[in-house]
Amino acid sequence: MAVRQPAGVVLGIAPWNAPVILGVRALATPLACGNTVVLKGSELCPATHGLIIEALQDAGLPAGVVNFVTNAPADAGAVVEAMVAHPALRRVNFTGSTHVGRLIAQTCAKYLKPAVLELGGKAPFVVLDDADLDAAVAAATFGAFANSGQICMSTERIIVDAAVADDFVARLAARAQGLPLGDPRKGPVVLGSVVDQRTVERCNALIDDALAKGAKLVCGGKADSTLMPATLLDNVSAQMRIYHEETFAPVKAIVRVRGTEAAIACANDNPFGLAAAVFGRDLARAWQVAGRIQSGICHINGPTVHDEAQMPFGGVKDSGWGRFGGQAGIEAFTELRWITMQTSPRHYPF
Ligand code: NAD
Repeated sequence: MAVRQPAGVVLGIAPWNAPVILGVRALATPLACGNTVVLKGSELCPATHGLIIEALQDAGLPAGVVNFVTNAPADAGAVVEAMVAHPALRRVNFTGSTHVGRLIAQTCAKYLKPAVLELGGKAPFVVLDDADLDAAVAAATFGAFANSGQICMSTERIIVDAAVADDFVARLAARAQGLPLGDPRKGPVVLGSVVDQRTVERCNALIDDALAKGAKLVCGGKADSTLMPATLLDNVSAQMRIYHEETFAPVKAIVRVRGTEAAIACANDNPFGLAAAVFGRDLARAWQVAGRIQSGICHINGPTVHDEAQMPFGGVKDSGWGRFGGQAGIEAFTELRWITMQTSPRHYPF
């Protein structure tokens, strides 16, 4: 019969942007499947990742079941390779950028270790000509600006049919402009500080590039501190860097298209393929569109930012391979074996 067994030691590598959710995701299913785990903490939030391990140890897990490693940034490659090379290590999961995901895939290939890779995204949010615009605006506002846009599923490209674009953009801009921005320690805000000044500089350059090539600034704009406002650029085209590159910040592109085929083509005109969304009242058409978007995940009339632990979460193309969640997660972190038991005399050819 076929049986599933724990794979062995699982290495989980988690990023900083949702440190508790993604740190727990890196080890929860592997542990539930009977493996032991090593979590490699992010250099940007090692103490938060360490608290997850402390909580599990305080809860009474036996010594050695959960383990924690941190490193200086320059040592990441060597530390990860030393762990991947170890014979006891049987699986790797990595959540982070596509650039580092490729390096980890190469290391895993060298030692023949399977890996789940959850990488970057550039989620398209498609607004068809029959969309409920209030619902679409609410979902786009949440999907684009939650956690200041620092989510792999974040709405990065708002692709809107020209027939409804003026109305949609005006309503979205009104919502985006009203989002409270400030230091969360001083009171409730929607947009807090982004992770670092490099993010600000990268986005300022993307804004300059888009404006120089004909985009229109609808709200927000360049920032001079990590408190970045909700920023929308309209009339974005393929010549602009922001059309292609993940901002990982509250700076979002609006692309106007004519018709359903153009919307699908635009959604697929990108190397990433993690999350997507389609808004339209004709559900049969919206379903067809969702089926043709090249992404691991697509929500019809819902935001791009949506995860459920029992569902298969993961991407296609440069967003990685493998799935966390549900049955797919069990398959990723167990070994499927075939065990037989001979119960009657057997004839052999010699
Ligand atoms: P990152 O790739 O810069 O870093 C993540 C980890 O990679 C760190 O632990 C770091 O130590 C390690 N690392 C760096 N160099 C390495 C090397 N040479 N070899 C091995 N490991 C190395 O990512 P980040 O900035 O922490 O996170 C942001 C990125 O993560 C974004 O692109 C975002 O889209 C993506 N992300 C994806 C998901 C998903 O589920 N698909 C979720 C959250 C974030």
